[in-house]
Amino acid sequence: MAGERKYIYRFGNHALDGDASMSAELGGKGAGLAEMTLLGIPVPPGITISTGVCRFYLEHGAFPTDFEEELGASLAWLEDSVGRKFGDPRNPLLASVRSGAAISMPGMMDTILNVGLTRESIHGLAAQSGSLRFALDSYRRLLQMFGAVVLEVPKKEFDNVLETIRADEAALRDSELSEAGLQSVIEGFHQAIERCAQTSFPQTAVQQLSMAVHAVFKSWRNERAQYYRRLNGIPDDLGTAVTVQAMVFGNVDQRSGTGVGFTRNPSTGENSILGEYLANAQGEDIVAGTRTPMPISELAESMPEIYEELFAITGTLERHFRDVQDFEFTVEKGKLFLLQTRAAKRSALAAVRIAVEMVETGLISSSEAVARISPATINEILAPQLDFSQGVPEVLARGLPASPGAAVGRIALTAVAAAGALHGDPVILVSQETTADDIHGIVAAAGLLTACGGVTSHAAVVARGMGKCCITAAKDIFVDSDIGVLRIGEAVFHEGDWLSLDASSGRIFAGKVPLRAADGENAGLRSILRWAIDQSPLAVRANADTPEDASAARARDARGIGLCRTEHMFFALERLPHVRAMILARNTPERKRSLNELLPMQQQDFEGLFREMSSLPVTIRLLDPPLHEFLPPRKDVDAELLLARSENDAGAIQRAELFLERMQALSETNPMMGHRGCRLSITYPEILEMQVRAILQAALKVAAEGFVPLPEIMVPFVASAEEMQCLRRLIDEAANEVFANHGESIDYSIGTMIELPRAAVCAGAIVEHVSFVSFGTNDLTQMTFGFSRDDAGKYIDAYLNQGILKSDPFATIDRGGVGGLMELAIRQMRARKPEIKIGVCGEHGGDPASIEFFVSIGVDYVSCSPARLPVAQLAMAQTQPLRRIAVPGQEHVSQC
Ligand SMILES: [Mg+2]
Repeated sequence: MAGERKYIYRFGNHALDGDASMSAELGGKGAGLAEMTLLGIPVPPGITISTGVCRFYLEHGAFPTDFEEELGASLAWLEDSVGRKFGDPRNPLLASVRSGAAISMPGMMDTILNVGLTRESIHGLAAQSGSLRFALDSYRRLLQMFGAVVLEVPKKEFDNVLETIRADEAALRDSELSEAGLQSVIEGFHQAIERCAQTSFPQTAVQQLSMAVHAVFKSWRNERAQYYRRLNGIPDDLGTAVTVQAMVFGNVDQRSGTGVGFTRNPSTGENSILGEYLANAQGEDIVAGTRTPMPISELAESMPEIYEELFAITGTLERHFRDVQDFEFTVEKGKLFLLQTRAAKRSALAAVRIAVEMVETGLISSSEAVARISPATINEILAPQLDFSQGVPEVLARGLPASPGAAVGRIALTAVAAAGALHGDPVILVSQETTADDIHGIVAAAGLLTACGGVTSHAAVVARGMGKCCITAAKDIFVDSDIGVLRIGEAVFHEGDWLSLDASSGRIFAGKVPLRAADGENAGLRSILRWAIDQSPLAVRANADTPEDASAARARDARGIGLCRTEHMFFALERLPHVRAMILARNTPERKRSLNELLPMQQQDFEGLFREMSSLPVTIRLLDPPLHEFLPPRKDVDAELLLARSENDAGAIQRAELFLERMQALSETNPMMGHRGCRLSITYPEILEMQVRAILQAALKVAAEGFVPLPEIMVPFVASAEEMQCLRRLIDEAANEVFANHGESIDYSIGTMIELPRAAVCAGAIVEHVSFVSFGTNDLTQMTFGFSRDDAGKYIDAYLNQGILKSDPFATIDRGGVGGLMELAIRQMRARKPEIKIGVCGEHGGDPASIEFFVSIGVDYVSCSPARLPVAQLAMAQTQPLRRIAVPGQEHVSQC
């Protein structure tokens, strides 16, 4: 090692160099290998070139000056550890070269096996292993992988050679090729490389190693890696580590093999080891889906000692890392080696079940469990499933349930077709097998179906990560993408036909099976949410307008109602005539008469809300929308008038004419900035009086029944302290009248919404007249940007695509602008009235990124729709010091 810097870390063979905490430097793989070495687990020895070297290389196009020296020393150590030398024709040391970033990027980087093998050393390897066939096969694999990854020879060049020779020898698979056949394959590969890459395959081990390391570093910038990083919000400047590891061979004989597995089922979460094993196979054979592997459990019969050792080791790994592991292993002539271990990607159902079961057995704490569940997980569990209530349709075919859930969509047979259908009907990507190049299509698809592969194939891994449903190994399907045909048994489908997948059971159905909302009653999820609520720093309330909404919100543990929109009660069919009569009234007494008709109805609603939310606060917003919203559409009234005239019905004519007249009087050019909110209470105080009476009479009534109503009366759309001062007086007067009439009183509080920029700027003055405020972030966003929420869809996409906006400000709070106003308001309010209660009741109250911001600026609660409560409750808990822990398979698309 030169100077302070350390570029290379060793593992295996008792090297005590690095550990699991160093994934930023060593990548996930390198850190895992270092940690396994510390645990005394058998891993083939090797070295990890740190991500720092990659960053240097990407910046300068060369290695650091003292790097080569350190590399030489490390390789010499590796040679000593194994007792073989790189390039030794009689006893060659072969190595795998793998990339490994700190954050796992499945299929994004390429692995090269058997590096170090040359024409000359084939015979040394043959003599050592006792099999010329094995040595030839190892060399042709090196040519194929190195050719494709390092020399960028198109993969199909190699496939063509293999196919031709397989046909010559009538061999069904590569493993059936004769030695002579393999010799021909090797010659064909050499020619392909010379023809396509204009260079011959390097014949020294050192040259191969060096070129492979360069290629790994360069692949950090390949297109699909960049795409994956963008999709998952992974920074571009992390760089990748490279591990160079002595090869062990799973393809020497039948007592050798290679396998991959999970310590628990990554699809269901079931606590039993799950994996696959292929005898006499190497590396990618198992995940490529070209041969169907056997379940790992069968290893217990064919090689019981190996199975037992593996079972013990993986159990140790899970307990040590305190998480489900995804491991790779190789058996060479009856000896077991672990090649890799890492936290496993898992489905949402599995994530929840595993977290809860690990808490139950004391492996992790409940706060860790909460931190490990992503909002996307909750959404996925609450996502739709196929609805079989009308019976189960005929099952077309079955495959492996690789990632649970359901999808109904049109068939796309290529990734391009799937990606092209992005904005139309949902699509199901159906293919023989998927590769990393299909990522665009996978992103666009609602579900995946592949003919080959197993539960560890590329499609399965990626689908679980994205929360998409996926069925693999559907043996009865055949895809001919050239002619756009999918055969499922006898049935023939074309691109665009409908298909339904039940990926929880692996069943495939023709046509459209209805979808239904999913597992809202998931017991594991309920445990997680209960823990989340207990750990939350702030309350999450629900927006609820009816007793039914309130009941649903209470069932989901809402800590009160943060917004009840009284206008929704006005829209009820039997009330609309009274609401319209109130609007059409020509004078105050007439208007009061109509309001008196509405009063008992409103009061009944409030009684229901207070009963459901007994002992919890209920914020009721006074009437907010412009009155014309309650009137019928103009064309309906025109038609009515026409009819009335044709029938000469004087009464009807007069009614319709009056309607039109009032509609004209009420019509506004810009109603969102018009005669609405508290302006209605200023101009028609009798509306406010009726609502206050209804609220407080309801509270008195249910209190007499033994409930504990906590009414909070909220005034919308306030811009100035003077408005609030005036309205507060009106509310108190109305309240005093109610109390005088009933001879008893009840506590109530008065607050306002802060949803106009002026209110935010003048919040310090407004707060003098209220005891709570709630940020109406929808209107505040509209008014701050000057974007009309109803029309902004026309241009927001362009803003997002051009990067002018990083995220939709109506979905995630704009921290700089809208958030800045909120901070300004909070600072002023807390200075004047430290005990002021501050909430948020816009759509943002259910958005995790926004919730994090709201907590950071010191709000006291958020309120969101009952459907978004679980996500908001989880997000609230995750604003605590033990933040969200990134769990593989649970990444979600970043806001940027
Ligand atoms: Mg509003």
